[in-house]
Amino acid sequence: MNIQKLYKLYKQHPVITTDSRECPQGSIFIALKGASFNGNKFAKMALEKGCSYAIIDEKEYAEEGNDRLILVKDALVTFKKIARLHRREFHIPVIGITGTNGKTTSKELISAVLSEKYNVLHTEGNFNNDVGVPKTLLRLDGEHEIAVIEMGASHQGDIKKLVEYVEPTCGLITNVGRAHLEGFGSFEGVKLTKGELYDYLKANDCLLFLNESNPDLSEMAAQRNFERIISYGQNDMVSVQGEIIDCAPFLHFRWREVGSEWKEVMTHLVGAYNLDNMLTAIALGLHFSVAPQQICHALETYVPSNNRSQLTETAHNKLVVDAYNANPSSMAAAIENFRLMNVENKMAILGDMRELGEVTDVEHQKVVEQLKAAGLTNVWLVGENFGKTNTDFKKFHDVEEVKAEIAKAQPQGHYILIKGSNGTKLFELPTLL
Ligand code: ATP
Ligand code: MG
Repeated sequence: MNIQKLYKLYKQHPVITTDSRECPQGSIFIALKGASFNGNKFAKMALEKGCSYAIIDEKEYAEEGNDRLILVKDALVTFKKIARLHRREFHIPVIGITGTNGKTTSKELISAVLSEKYNVLHTEGNFNNDVGVPKTLLRLDGEHEIAVIEMGASHQGDIKKLVEYVEPTCGLITNVGRAHLEGFGSFEGVKLTKGELYDYLKANDCLLFLNESNPDLSEMAAQRNFERIISYGQNDMVSVQGEIIDCAPFLHFRWREVGSEWKEVMTHLVGAYNLDNMLTAIALGLHFSVAPQQICHALETYVPSNNRSQLTETAHNKLVVDAYNANPSSMAAAIENFRLMNVENKMAILGDMRELGEVTDVEHQKVVEQLKAAGLTNVWLVGENFGKTNTDFKKFHDVEEVKAEIAKAQPQGHYILIKGSNGTKLFELPTLL
């Protein structure tokens, strides 16, 4: 069956499931494959449970005379192609976002700002991969006026593949840093991969939103000779300029458009690095004609609830919870921000940074050195990678050991930074502190 016919079928059955445990009546099951599962094996069962059709890509699961099992070359590619045809039905601005850190935060802030004026479709949570992005595109409907799509990458070529389906009309890279080095090979590999968004935008004469204060991004944009740029940053050469007023502990900043008055914003986000994310949202908001007052309102009322840059007060301690992910650049930013916070009794519970390949040991040792230089003395390090560092800081094998220590030591009256890769499960700690 060709892709146009499959798309027609989708229009008649506009619910897609990739999980054989959830098979709504009349839906289409797509047999995806992963390292430890093969959706083809569950296709027949999906039909029995209620799906009208199942798209599979292994011949042995097809059945003569059963046209509800549709055999294609690659089910994931078919899924993405269906999503692309769907996306093409909507002639609205589509904002593509990638970068090492701050994609989800920027996406949330941009969506909050644009929602002041428009009906916005945005990536839910962190659904930024090969499966999440097509799922998001398929949620587009006639009511939406703008789409904000987060695109993640862990290998070279990932963004190139995603933009071919998203077809953004404008976009931005939040920053480029040292993460997923196992997959990217090196920092150059990170720049090349994130740069695939710039390549697409340039080739299609799309508008680029550029954080001019970031030398890597400025260089990457200059290399591609962009003509259509809206710039933002901390100097006064840009279209939207921002300055931190303080971080005590929430980011309080001011911003202005060239030639106009400063406007102050008191946010609910911890972390000086969030200024970049805020300015991104402001630049987008202004471009799409959201009034400055509404922009400020959206940013002031945005309260994170996703373990990113969140400040939580428990009965015993104040917590800076950043336990969603960690890589060398976000870890460095979080520690620097914690250093700058003018509060007493600081403590840090930090978990391993994963997927760093051969630089794992070096990068963990760097964190230890940064912690020492920041004057932090009460530090708990969690995981195998931190376990190998040379330091006197307390070390824990895993989060369970930390829980036991919390029960024993019952820390009180501390300001505690909690950060680590998701896999270290430090997000289980706040309720115990
Ligand atoms: P993922 O790759 O997991 O999707 P992401 O790019 O979506 O991550 P966020 O979830 O927004 O990033 O933020 C994750 C963490 O990165 C934050 O909790 C914070 O520590 C850090 N971070 C956020 N924004 C920035 C920034 N502009 N610069 C540096 N670090 C940042
Ligand atoms: Mg994200």
